[in-house]
Amino acid sequence: MKNNMNWNFDNSYSRLSNAFKEHIKPIAVKNPELVLMNEDLVEELNLDFSKINKNELAALFTGNILPEGSNTIAQAYAGHQFGHFTMLGDGRAVLIGEHLTRNNKRYDIQFKGSGKTAFSRNGDGRAALGPMLREYIISEAMHKLGIPTTRSLAVAKTGEKVIRDTPLQGAVLTRIALSHIRVGTFQYIAAREKKDELETLFNYVIQRHYPELENSKNKALDLLTVLIDKQIDLVINWMRVGFIHGVMNTDNMTVSGETIDYGPCAFMNTYDPKTVFSSIDRFGRYAYYNQPNITKWNLARFAECLIPLIDKDENKAIHKATEIINSFGNKYEKKWLDMMRNKLGLLGKEERDKSLILDLLTWMHEKKADYTNTFCHLMELEPEKNRIFEDMEFLNWKLRWKERLKTFNNSPKKYEKLMRSFNPLVIPRNHKVEEVLNEANTDNLEPLRSFLEVLSDPYNIKKNISKYQIVTGDEKGYQTFCGT
Ligand code: AMP
Ligand code: MG
Repeated sequence: MKNNMNWNFDNSYSRLSNAFKEHIKPIAVKNPELVLMNEDLVEELNLDFSKINKNELAALFTGNILPEGSNTIAQAYAGHQFGHFTMLGDGRAVLIGEHLTRNNKRYDIQFKGSGKTAFSRNGDGRAALGPMLREYIISEAMHKLGIPTTRSLAVAKTGEKVIRDTPLQGAVLTRIALSHIRVGTFQYIAAREKKDELETLFNYVIQRHYPELENSKNKALDLLTVLIDKQIDLVINWMRVGFIHGVMNTDNMTVSGETIDYGPCAFMNTYDPKTVFSSIDRFGRYAYYNQPNITKWNLARFAECLIPLIDKDENKAIHKATEIINSFGNKYEKKWLDMMRNKLGLLGKEERDKSLILDLLTWMHEKKADYTNTFCHLMELEPEKNRIFEDMEFLNWKLRWKERLKTFNNSPKKYEKLMRSFNPLVIPRNHKVEEVLNEANTDNLEPLRSFLEVLSDPYNIKKNISKYQIVTGDEKGYQTFCGT
């Protein structure tokens, strides 16, 4: 397809050796129809679709026609899935290329749900409309919450059915990422035991994501340290807003530090550290409270891949890597405390902060308080009066908090500003997500559009947002599904 859309492809990953990927085209679909396009993101990427018509757009976003300059590949990777090592790869996705924006920022453009590849195993290579729109909603919400994430450019229907428990409408999501290189990509290459391939991938990642490490003395050790810091920041952001990823397998952890793979993820309502939504996570491996532990576990798998690059002497390399991995706990605790201080509007650091924070969380857990709305209450911005906050234990806690707010020259102006920038008023509540997806499945996109609009400004007071803030009914049984 002629390039009159400002695509500016430079496909560096597809130039790597064939160990890293399979060259494959998306499989054409019957009846493409564009459902949703992210106009803001189109603009941010300096793309321009004004010169092509609706049919061409639909054909473009299902992969029926490819833009000039693209070079489509399925990427190879492996991963620990629920702790078990497996060879994976893009089984239902193709990278169509890397697009450079006007100021030379590089983004992967990927189709998800675009047909079988060499890595499809028993899968059909396809995706259903509901889960692709779900990824669109939640990834865009995460972005607007200020959390690093892949983004969603468009969703288009294929006009074909995909068979799951029942026949569903097929769809393709166009996903944008700093790259799709995962911890699992390193695991795949490391498992092949060819040092030159490992060096190729390593140097590629340094050049593409961490050029500041180019001149460091031990690049592999420094990459490990940087990734630990990035992933700690990421998981702390998840903890801040009550996000549960749901399937933190090593293939779903990027080396860029972006959240990726919105499968069975969901936001917690009632504060319960053990919250799990994913139907297949029977032992709570990826429960809310366990996300930092799993982040560390995944980073240890990443460190293992880097051993041959850290030191010629394997024992020394293991010793050095272990030391860095073991720094995770202290770093996490410090950053988590700071994040919670911010949520509570506290300036400075005091010994007593930790118990103040933990006592609030314990109270929330015992009284089954809503996580997001408790902080809204503290900001005096709750969507509706809730008698739970008249509880004596809570009122006593509040007195301690108010005392602490007086220290370090704090003022209402200062702490309100701080709290308002760390505590969202709206999150993609599960029942709302389901509601708008049900409507979208019957071709009514209006509720979805309104929802996206509300989610696009989560920290500011807007008219008519209370219906997006209130939790209705008991969400205890809410489940999300993988392999969608
Ligand atoms: P995920 O659970 O989305 O992280 O996917 C794990 C692995 O399963 C990846 O290699 C995917 O490409 C693959 N996969 C998931 N769904 C399908 C499907 N419908 N067809 C082929 N491969 C799939
Ligand atoms: Mg995945």
